[in-house]
Amino acid sequence: MPLIEICNYIDGEILPIDFNQNTIPVYEPAKGVQYGFIQDTSEKEIGRAIDTAEKAFESWKNTPAEKRSEVLNKISHLILENLEELAKAESKDNGKPISLAKRMDIPRAAQNFSFFATAILHQSSQYHQTDNIAINYTVRSPLGVVACISPWNLPLYLFTWKIAPALAAGNTVVAKPSEITPYTAFLLSKICIEAGLPKGVLNIVHGSGNITGSALISHPKIKAVSFTGGTATGEKIAAVVAPKFKKLSLELGGKNPAIIFNDCNFDYTLEQTLRAAFTNQGQICLCGSRILIQEELYPKFRDALVAKVNQLKISTPDDPNADMSAVVSEPHLQKIDHYVKLAISEGGKILTGGKIIKMEATDYQNGWYYAPTVIEGLNQKCRVNREEIFGPVVTLQSFKTEEEAIELANDTDYGLAATVWTQNLSTANKMTQALHFGIVWVNTWLLRDLRTPFGGVKNSGVGREGGWEAINFFTEQKNVCIKL
Ligand code: NDP
Repeated sequence: MPLIEICNYIDGEILPIDFNQNTIPVYEPAKGVQYGFIQDTSEKEIGRAIDTAEKAFESWKNTPAEKRSEVLNKISHLILENLEELAKAESKDNGKPISLAKRMDIPRAAQNFSFFATAILHQSSQYHQTDNIAINYTVRSPLGVVACISPWNLPLYLFTWKIAPALAAGNTVVAKPSEITPYTAFLLSKICIEAGLPKGVLNIVHGSGNITGSALISHPKIKAVSFTGGTATGEKIAAVVAPKFKKLSLELGGKNPAIIFNDCNFDYTLEQTLRAAFTNQGQICLCGSRILIQEELYPKFRDALVAKVNQLKISTPDDPNADMSAVVSEPHLQKIDHYVKLAISEGGKILTGGKIIKMEATDYQNGWYYAPTVIEGLNQKCRVNREEIFGPVVTLQSFKTEEEAIELANDTDYGLAATVWTQNLSTANKMTQALHFGIVWVNTWLLRDLRTPFGGVKNSGVGREGGWEAINFFTEQKNVCIKL
């Protein structure tokens, strides 16, 4: 099979890769082979993309909301029309089961566009009357050219979660997907052309974080940076962007607790805890990787969880019954394995999993698969309970009281999401108030209403995405005061 060229989209055009410049190979994790290339887009080319976006800004900003909404809705429809192709591409790039991409990633990418396309038709602004002295009204305007940078775990889902509100609010965008998973962003370029998105309004550039990403965030014409990725990268980006007084939104890592009380609905909690631990091979920032179980329930829940994990089907992405497929890259596979070995050296006991696995199917034997892993016997001071693994690895700890559960859950540098499993309303209320996380789910996981604020506290980030929070981030307010 010839290697696929995954091209930049600048000024409304798909640009062929320039092989005289640096390129980066792109791999298919399920098979462990290279399948394509991207350009490691240079600072000069990033400058051109930003100039293009700047040129397109005035016209896009002044395009009536209804017209902007129409184009963005068309993109949403085209994503759904191309669901099959996009799901296969997402799976090829990331290693996830095609069935998961079809069910979750691609429909959500379409929803991101339709959600913000309709939101802007319902936007209103504030008005304050100062007695009989003056009236004030507040105008919200788009910022200009903004940068969106996204990670590899939910490639099109998170890429569009940033781009859609930025465009809907009237900004023009230069966006960079992860170099590890650029394929669906490239296919989105083609969809934008078909939908009639004006030239230069969205520019999609590929390349490494160090070259392309750095050039993008540090460019003086970029007015805001919306970033989702690891905490260490977020810190680097903040160091560059904050002194330049650009707006900055950071959605970073997590080490999320699932807090399970004796009185939980056992079967449902078990099923959802399994889902929260291993969906997308555990590579979702919201996955519950620290499972805290009340003492009395602990042995029963542990044994039932291990039995369920042993029934998970780890298979090639094209298997419609696959519960899990490959992790995203060979270095990530090694990182996961390193943490499992660390768990053993820290005194942890592997209840199931704990190893790299090989597929038997022809072509898939060199793929990067890791067995879903459950570990017990590690306390909250262990590195495995403190650092983000971002793979199919969970630890179990027990607690006696609500107070102890709160202390264990909050004893982390992260603060993205927590889940609480109980049928007692008072316990649920006490927990939701005491937990230091941006999102707390009670008796559910990953139930998302796109109107709600999304983001974390502590090392999990700064700012919120979702609903009006996103539109507000991508706009600037001006208050006008008129003396009566
Ligand atoms: P990284 O931080 O490695 O990369 C994220 C993006 O930033 C990529 O596009 C990357 O490019 C780019 N990048 C890297 N360095 C720079 C730089 N110096 N300047 C500008 N851009 C840069 O994260 P991963 O892709 O490894 O994603 C996994 C992480 O994302 C996990 O920590 C996870 O928790 C977090 N995450 C957070 C979510 C949230 O909503 N809070 C949701 C999903 C994931 P390149 O790939 O080319 O290096």
